[in-house]
Amino acid sequence: MGDVPLRRRLEILADAARYDASCASSGAQRRGTREGLGNTTRIGICHSYTPDGRCVSLLKLLLTNHCIYDCQYCVNRVTSDVERASFTAAEVAWLTTEFYRRNYIEGLFLSSGVVRSADHTMEQLVAVARALRTEHQFRGYIHLKAVPGASPEMLAEAGRWADRLSANIELPTATDLARLAPGKTFPVIESAMREIATRREEAVEAQRESRRAPVFAPAGQSTQMIVGATPASDAVILQTAARLYTTHGLRRVYYSAYSPTPHADARLPPEPPPLVREHRLYQGDWLFRSYGFSIDEIVPPEAPQLDLEVDPKLAWALRNRQHFPVDVNRAPREMLLRVPGLGVRNVQRILQARRHRAITLADLARLRCAMERVRPFVLTEDHNPATRALDRVDLRARVTRGVQLDLFAPRVTAT
Ligand code: SF4
Repeated sequence: MGDVPLRRRLEILADAARYDASCASSGAQRRGTREGLGNTTRIGICHSYTPDGRCVSLLKLLLTNHCIYDCQYCVNRVTSDVERASFTAAEVAWLTTEFYRRNYIEGLFLSSGVVRSADHTMEQLVAVARALRTEHQFRGYIHLKAVPGASPEMLAEAGRWADRLSANIELPTATDLARLAPGKTFPVIESAMREIATRREEAVEAQRESRRAPVFAPAGQSTQMIVGATPASDAVILQTAARLYTTHGLRRVYYSAYSPTPHADARLPPEPPPLVREHRLYQGDWLFRSYGFSIDEIVPPEAPQLDLEVDPKLAWALRNRQHFPVDVNRAPREMLLRVPGLGVRNVQRILQARRHRAITLADLARLRCAMERVRPFVLTEDHNPATRALDRVDLRARVTRGVQLDLFAPRVTAT
């Protein structure tokens, strides 16, 4: 380790970390103090795009890319011949504060290969966060990897210093995991999630009684699922995500398109899945979490793959035309949320505005609704689409015209 210059190790371990997508920071509540560095209360820090389209930066590193596991989809597996490197905890703490002082980053996302044991690895990760908080007075965002199999005591320490923890579920099914990641199991991974969820609930409860009570991972927990490494359908992927949200109170499930690695196992596909699949999964996930759709509505049993050409809400509307047109001036919130092109914020604005006056198409356009998608599916004060129009065989082509560029939009939305 000592022979490889720090700069080279930074290149290796920053590159190795880019495969982990389970990283975002909305909801962090760590306040800045006069003597501390950083503040996560005013800005949601994330390694890529926030829901409002802002890009914020984290120093995203692996503590080491040595690993005792042999997960076939991972470039850092023990049988891979990549160049190896490691940092000490003190080096990562120093790098983080130096990058922060130069204004390059707003926080740290730290993951690691597993060395010696889960507890040993977790202890190293915790040492970085503890040093940042106690020695460097760092108040910026910290996201730590929770190593499945680590003891409850180590996870408790991790949640004491980090804003967010993430134990990766890795693959959509237990069978996929058994085939491609020997040594890893859903029960062990989910036991880490359960431990984090329980400690968070206890901390929130204690905070209700006294604001001086210690926080525990205030930005919650997330996970990552690799997509396209196995034949699991989008329905299976979203069902697993829904179960994790419901059972362990996850803030986010991140979907990461499988990226082929050199000398990969023959059971893995030679090509990555289309990136748009990842995008559609995020949209489906969004419909489940914020729009009241069930997974069976998003990916019905007879069509378990998401339509790559149109967003899942539009796909649902095209399959369920009998529910339209929706009267924008009378329909309940749940039904307005199902109209293609109407987002949560727009629905809120419509509900407020219609208390005072009847909504017209021009009002919807002023709200910047996606009118190509909205128009065929709504009834307004001045617009009553013939229900026959909803039966047209070319409706899909008509509403998707001009919408295709949405595939390349940087933000994940499900309007
Ligand atoms: S445990 Fe993590 S780093 Fe190690 S091989 Fe598996 S996915 Fe890669």
